[in-house]
Amino acid sequence: MNEDMHMQKERTDNVSDRKIPARNYSALGEPHTSLQGEESWSNLLAFMDIVPDALVLVDSDGCIRRVNNQTEEVFGYTSAELEGLPLEILIPERYWGAHVLDRKKYHALPTTRPMGVGLDLYGLRKDGSEFPVDISLSPLLFDGTLHVLAAVRDITMRKYLEAHEHESRATAEARLALLQLVMDELPACIYFVTGSDARLVLANRAAVTVWGTEWPTGQPMVDFLNSQHIHLFDTNGQTLPPAAFATLRALEEGQTVFQHQEVIHHDDGTSLPVLVNAVAIDQRLLAGLEPGAESLKISLAEPAALVVLQDITPLKEAEQLKDRFIGLVAHELRNPLAALKGFAQTLLRHSHSEKGAALAPWQRESLAEIDIATDRLNRLTEDLLDVVRLQAGRLQLYRESIDLVEITQHIITQMGQSSDCHEITLTTSLPHVKAQADRGRIEQVLMNLIANAIKYSPTGGKVEVTLQVGKNQEEAVISIRDYGIGIPQSEQAHLFGRFVRASNGQSYGINGTGLGLYLCRELVSQHEGDIWFESIEGVGSTFFLRLPLLTHASSENMIDPSLRSG
Ligand code: ADP
Repeated sequence: MNEDMHMQKERTDNVSDRKIPARNYSALGEPHTSLQGEESWSNLLAFMDIVPDALVLVDSDGCIRRVNNQTEEVFGYTSAELEGLPLEILIPERYWGAHVLDRKKYHALPTTRPMGVGLDLYGLRKDGSEFPVDISLSPLLFDGTLHVLAAVRDITMRKYLEAHEHESRATAEARLALLQLVMDELPACIYFVTGSDARLVLANRAAVTVWGTEWPTGQPMVDFLNSQHIHLFDTNGQTLPPAAFATLRALEEGQTVFQHQEVIHHDDGTSLPVLVNAVAIDQRLLAGLEPGAESLKISLAEPAALVVLQDITPLKEAEQLKDRFIGLVAHELRNPLAALKGFAQTLLRHSHSEKGAALAPWQRESLAEIDIATDRLNRLTEDLLDVVRLQAGRLQLYRESIDLVEITQHIITQMGQSSDCHEITLTTSLPHVKAQADRGRIEQVLMNLIANAIKYSPTGGKVEVTLQVGKNQEEAVISIRDYGIGIPQSEQAHLFGRFVRASNGQSYGINGTGLGLYLCRELVSQHEGDIWFESIEGVGSTFFLRLPLLTHASSENMIDPSLRSG
């Protein structure tokens, strides 16, 4: 038997002075390890030194028999200083009763049952400082004598992390509550979604009003819409396929979809026009937004988006009212304008045929000016009526088989007469290009584009029109090029909007309404075509018009090698 085992140091006065209470080790349960002999003792000591925790071997009197290196490091004592002292030397006084009870009962313990006790206490260093520890006590029979092996773990870092995590969670919860409050107070419907199937993460109160029902957290958007029989339409009343939903596009493309107009149609027949802004966001921003929602399964690899839906019913109503007003005024202007034009022309005709009193030259000039001005007013009222028809979805196309070459040539000839200082040419390799289109509307588009080319080249010059057929003869592309004032780069993006005019045109004193290009774009898109332009300010502009052709017309679009020009 090792002498250490029996070495009974006198307890130091200061510790015994602290009146250590009686302890009851029976609370620890039964020893499950029983060791015998010298070899076991040295094995135990070797084992104690390789364990990362501070290990303290205590005899049945509660006195320290052996400590490992880690104990010396953690508590700041040497093992010689500790051996023979009660375990309580390492524990602040207020915890003395907490780690074990009456030690007398400890001897009566059966020796078969394993045990382990985790106590969340404080340790006391030699320098008097305290630190949080987790103590586990395990009874151990050594040569028939009961001992206790105390494993003491410094949990300062764990405590710190726990406190920090608790604090972070409290902060996150407070922020979430604030976010929810702010979102709920906003009149627009706001929600966060994640994944390519747009599973709901968080929505505000207004979302219930807009959707007419609650969208359950974690449910994919399409499942939600289907389950509630909600349909999304575009502004023309066409059903939007899911891939065209602003929400799903933002997730799919990882980009912001701005000001997308959608109409939410409910099963009961009610509709709600909304303006959607869907912003792709970093998935990490959603962390902690809905910690309890198992169904969300937020993954960092998935896309996420913030979506804002604004009810634009009042705007739409105001717009309709304005359109009705414009339509009414334009309609009412038609009759007096027709009368003005009619009388002016009658007067001119009579004076030419000398049926009435002869008119002085200035009177004839004035009548000619009145005639031109009424033409301009007529065009304006017709444009306004077209805008109103388009807005109301009442603009109808009367399609027939037309020859684009013939129409383009006709418009060029007509427009050429209006200006002496512009030279308008047509270049095409085709004698005929057949399309199924509304003749009047195509003429209107071409006339508008060529008139613009003339108008925005105030010093005169060439206007070059080309007509080509592309893509297996399935489409015609007409281009109108001028060498005029061009369009400032920064204003190009909005030019097809209603009443939009570039600033340089106005500074040149060129009049206009900003309706022509808008009408061109709408009319071309009604023909399933496209319109676009390239322009450099001060250099000139080229407008392109793509129109689909009759699919069976390929035989008629035979290529004529001689270039037409004129
Ligand atoms: P407007 O009646 O003002 O000419 P449009 O809708 O036809 O209206 O054109 C919109 C604006 O686009 C014009 O005001 C002008 O600023 C610009 N624009 C159109 N065509 C041309 C062009 N060929 N060259 C330069 N600017 C053009």
